[in-house]
Amino acid sequence: MGEDYIIYVVSNLLLKGYTMTEKFCPYCGSPLMRKEGKVFCPICEPMAFQQ
Ligand SMILES: [Zn+2]
Repeated sequence: MGEDYIIYVVSNLLLKGYTMTEKFCPYCGSPLMRKEGKVFCPICEPMAFQQ
């Protein structure tokens, strides 16, 4: 899982109105994202935003 992929995923989520938190996933190093009070890792929990 490359850093470029993480940046790509995070950038797309920012465009969709998600907020990047100051915390990072302990498993993959991606910034944790937040929307509507829910915080999740976009790399490890992709189902969280595929709705
Ligand atoms: Zn992760």
